[in-house]
Amino acid sequence: MSNFAQLASGAQALQDQIVRWRRSLHEIPELGLDLPKTSAFVAEQLTDMGIDIQTGIAQSGIVGLIGSANDGPTFALRADMDALPVSEKTNVPYASKHPGRMHACGHDAHMAMLLGAAKLLVDHSQEFYGNVKLVFQPGEESPGGAAPMIAQGILDNPKVDAILGLHIGAIFKNMPAGTIGVGYGPLMASLDRFYIKVIGRGGHGAMPDTTVDPIVITSVLIGALQQLVSREQKPTQPMVLTIGRIQGGTAYNVIPGFVELEGTVRTTCQKARERISRRMEEIVGSITAGLQGAHEFRYDFGYPPLITDKAVTKLVEDTICKLFGLEKVVQITEPSMGSEDMAYYLERVPGTFIFLSAANPAKGIMPLHHSPKFQLDEDVFWKGSAVLAASAMGWLHKNRVK
Ligand SMILES: [Zn+2]
Ligand SMILES: [Zn+2]
Repeated sequence: MSNFAQLASGAQALQDQIVRWRRSLHEIPELGLDLPKTSAFVAEQLTDMGIDIQTGIAQSGIVGLIGSANDGPTFALRADMDALPVSEKTNVPYASKHPGRMHACGHDAHMAMLLGAAKLLVDHSQEFYGNVKLVFQPGEESPGGAAPMIAQGILDNPKVDAILGLHIGAIFKNMPAGTIGVGYGPLMASLDRFYIKVIGRGGHGAMPDTTVDPIVITSVLIGALQQLVSREQKPTQPMVLTIGRIQGGTAYNVIPGFVELEGTVRTTCQKARERISRRMEEIVGSITAGLQGAHEFRYDFGYPPLITDKAVTKLVEDTICKLFGLEKVVQITEPSMGSEDMAYYLERVPGTFIFLSAANPAKGIMPLHHSPKFQLDEDVFWKGSAVLAASAMGWLHKNRVK
């Protein structure tokens, strides 16, 4: 296996190319699973490198396979591809050419860095055992692309034995540009959504005794739902229950027939998530019934909590140290309550998710994810490619068939 200094300098030599790829992709942001231009661009680069690809997975997803001359296991590298419905306000020369759409989360850089890693891996394919599967996935922001790609079999043929994904930007704060965050265990939260309809019986505001007031029932309900977090959830285990929408009534002196509520639950524990969904339904049912109303309740399980594998995380952490030095590793000890559909792969395959900081206050670059002024310090891109390629090669070497 090549030494780490060689891979790092190889990645550095690709830096300008990675920036060009990223800027080209930045100009053509597309949404969700429908990414025709983005997908065509990525497919063209991979084909130019001589990599076998499969396109059209979950509509716009691409899987590429770099097989070595030697038999062995398969390591996957994943990049998401989709942009956001945001109008860019950065004034960079490569700003979005698609009005109302912007790569405001850095997924353009993820694709470019994975292309860089692919180039490094092709150049070194005689030096590792097994295969590297490149996973370019649409729909991370919405509606989710990992689950449909898995359903279409991307973790099989050849079977994926471990996986690595990377997020750029400033998801975790106070990390200098070019440092890489790694974390063991739960790193990001699940993303669930609920809908509650509190059904009463409307009537005159002056004659509440002839009605069942859903607004008063709702006021009791909200406090009780918050108690599920404050009284029933283990205090050391993070959980958020947020009601983001509440709607009921049309006039100051009329008791309405119903109130609607919508919200989200986030937690890093799968069991806690199942428990709260059940308890919410019990509380909604008993409070509305006890106060003579009725209810509708829906709980949609979205992205699962993102939980990393210890052994793969350790290997990637050691790889970062060997490539760039110990001081470039940041230990993430507190999870983000944000969510990522990378979690679906990690439910099935041991792997990890790492965070490359592209925040550089000295250059005036502070990436605010999903903001119209989102920017990245492009100088760090080669590091992303180096870590992806070196981790894949290192893992395959360690787990080679002897
Ligand atoms: Zn995002
Ligand atoms: Zn993102």
